[in-house]
Amino acid sequence: MLYEYTGNLHIHTTYSDGSGNIGDVVMAAKKAGIDFVGITDHNTLQSYREGKEGWYDDVLVLIGVELNTRYNHYLAFDVKEDIRDYTSNPQQTIDEVNKQGGFGFMAHPFEKGSRLVFGGKAFTWNDWNVKGHTGISIWNYCSRWRDAATSIVKGFYCYYINRNYQAGPDDETLRKWDELTQTRKVVGIGCSDAHAHRVSYGFLKLTIFPYEYLFKTVNTHVLLGRPLKKDFHADKRMVYNALKRGHCFIGFDFYWNSRGFRYWAEKGKTRFLMGDGIDLSDDIVLKVEAPRMGIIRLIHNGKLILAKKERFITYTVKHKGSYRVEVYSKGFLGSTHPWIYSNPIYIY
Ligand SMILES: [Zn+2]
Ligand SMILES: [Zn+2]
Repeated sequence: MLYEYTGNLHIHTTYSDGSGNIGDVVMAAKKAGIDFVGITDHNTLQSYREGKEGWYDDVLVLIGVELNTRYNHYLAFDVKEDIRDYTSNPQQTIDEVNKQGGFGFMAHPFEKGSRLVFGGKAFTWNDWNVKGHTGISIWNYCSRWRDAATSIVKGFYCYYINRNYQAGPDDETLRKWDELTQTRKVVGIGCSDAHAHRVSYGFLKLTIFPYEYLFKTVNTHVLLGRPLKKDFHADKRMVYNALKRGHCFIGFDFYWNSRGFRYWAEKGKTRFLMGDGIDLSDDIVLKVEAPRMGIIRLIHNGKLILAKKERFITYTVKHKGSYRVEVYSKGFLGSTHPWIYSNPIYIY
């Protein structure tokens, strides 16, 4: 039996450049129906020091930090002390996080930027020789919106009309992820990068990407072996362990909620979750169950090896490597769009 919790990660508040406080984030999480949030203000753990982590009714608030400024943004969790800006030396960033017993993810490594926002600046990850990071945020919703907003019309179109116009993670990030997972475990998560920016044009006041809007888009769903018990410290450990192990998947939850998606391996009577590793033998079967009919795609070492319109598939493993799953579903006006991304199962 697995217990699934839906979380939205990478959120900015008034402790950095977000417009809402933690109460606003919690309120939005309740309205969006998600279970936990991961706050990551820029270069500060002030809210953590003020004791703002914890359960707020049914919403678990976890506090991490987004490190670095111009490049190499790194989302770190389970850290207690502030870490300096090592923008030009991201290995140092990763090492400092690990030294504190924390873990982290590259935030938006291949974002392209839009000339409409920040004068076209992109905050890319520039050093791929680094070691020791837990994983990558493969889908950063706000980065992908900016990538797609090449004109004001397109910006409005993908904001108001087709929320998945940008069609999932960018190819470069997926390619890099697939390359890295052939050598070691690299956990994929999905993020919103919520700021709830407030802008005003005369009398007209707008919030761009309010928290609630984003909490219904790209979420990371964790799978736990027992339910959370409103025991904050134990619950935080469980969610963090699931993220570190890759016992999680990414869902674009606006058109169809991805809750209920499962991908696992069976070897005899033993079950392995996504994120786990198994030694190759001739009796390993991969199984995928989607919450509704979709196109299930199985990807081995970056290559598509199976695509079927089904709710359930099985596949007998023959080779070593990393096996991950994508599911495409119907979205805006019946178009097919990327919906779910699993973590890989690793066959050694
Ligand atoms: Zn960032
Ligand atoms: Zn951010």
